[in-house]
Amino acid sequence: RGEITLGDFADRLGIGSSELIKKLFLKGQMLTINSPISFELAEELAVDYDALVEEEEEIELDFGDKFALEITDKPEDLIERAPVITIMGHVDHGKTSLLDAIRTTSVASGEAGGITQKIGAYQIDKAGKKITFVDTPGHEAFTDMRARGAQVTDIAILVVAADDGVMPQTIEALSHAKAANVPIIVAINKIDKPEANPMRVKQELMEHGLVSVEWGGDTEFVEVSAKARMNLDTLLDTILITSEILELKANPKKRAKGIVLESRLDPKVGPIADVLIQEGTLRIGEVIVAGESMGKVRALVNDLGTKVQSATVSQPIEIIGFNDVPSAGDTFYVIQNEQHAKRIVEEMAKERKIAEVSRKSISLETLSQQMD
Ligand code: GDP
Ligand code: MG
Repeated sequence: RGEITLGDFADRLGIGSSELIKKLFLKGQMLTINSPISFELAEELAVDYDALVEEEEEIELDFGDKFALEITDKPEDLIERAPVITIMGHVDHGKTSLLDAIRTTSVASGEAGGITQKIGAYQIDKAGKKITFVDTPGHEAFTDMRARGAQVTDIAILVVAADDGVMPQTIEALSHAKAANVPIIVAINKIDKPEANPMRVKQELMEHGLVSVEWGGDTEFVEVSAKARMNLDTLLDTILITSEILELKANPKKRAKGIVLESRLDPKVGPIADVLIQEGTLRIGEVIVAGESMGKVRALVNDLGTKVQSATVSQPIEIIGFNDVPSAGDTFYVIQNEQHAKRIVEEMAKERKIAEVSRKSISLETLSQQMD
């Protein structure tokens, strides 16, 4: 019998995990986002959300009769998926340069036109394996997404300039990566500079608990230069080795689910959402929901600016077709039909309003307590 965490269960229901935590708290149960939810409890909760939890050989969650999502994937449906990498570090230590260097090295010259596109996230091919890179959506967005139970990153690359060493934002990035519980690979950048001192970076990071493999620890350090394009291959190989250990799997057969990385309103085509697909396969014509916005996929544009018919797990893709602009950090789902999508969006709007009100009343309460 598969178990599911509260965070995952809330996702399946299409509600916020804080909403579910609050609900359980009112029922007298103190649970966190990582607490396992028993089948019995899932069943009880599902009733309140008009969902149906079924236990066959797999546990199936059926939202109405239209929102069928498996809780447990059949093992034979799981395939290896590309790791999703976030590059973090202090300002000016070379995050953008490194992302650009990796991309230009990996993208064939015939596709070079794609490079001039705004990079939110992209996927490369290394020795037949795909790797997805996400431009850190700012530390705040990163923590916010995590607070909402969304984990975007599988591996964090911590960039530290060899001439500058560990700086305040290096430590901040490190603590975010630690809190997200993802493996960290350190990229010591700018080793082309004469004043580069990689040894100092290793010593400084050791004081923060990151001990390099050569010093008997378990953190991979790779010395690179984004500018001189040194050791980028080694960095990519290290990413692949690290991700192999993680055994990342996903089911491409089910309906797509993912996370909105960025969004904007284009005056010509309307709302555009850059998303990362985390489960299933997304296709043109499918009905989608994200936060309080819904729509129908009109076009999918990949990271090279090419229109495609479908997109699959770990792939960053631009969706055109939302009626409103969803927010970064929103989870998106494919829903079976528009009526049902409408209902979910209405529910979501209601829940968010309730959450807003209770947040306000809580802060008023604490305020009056402080004044007592
Ligand atoms: P970010 O703020 O972390 O995204 O840093 P950027 O990628 O914008 O780089 C900051 C500055 O460092 C730019 O002037 C880059 O040209 C320079 N830079 C980045 N990587 C290297 C490198 O490997 N070697 C040298 N010498 N300069 C670099
Ligand atoms: Mg930058």
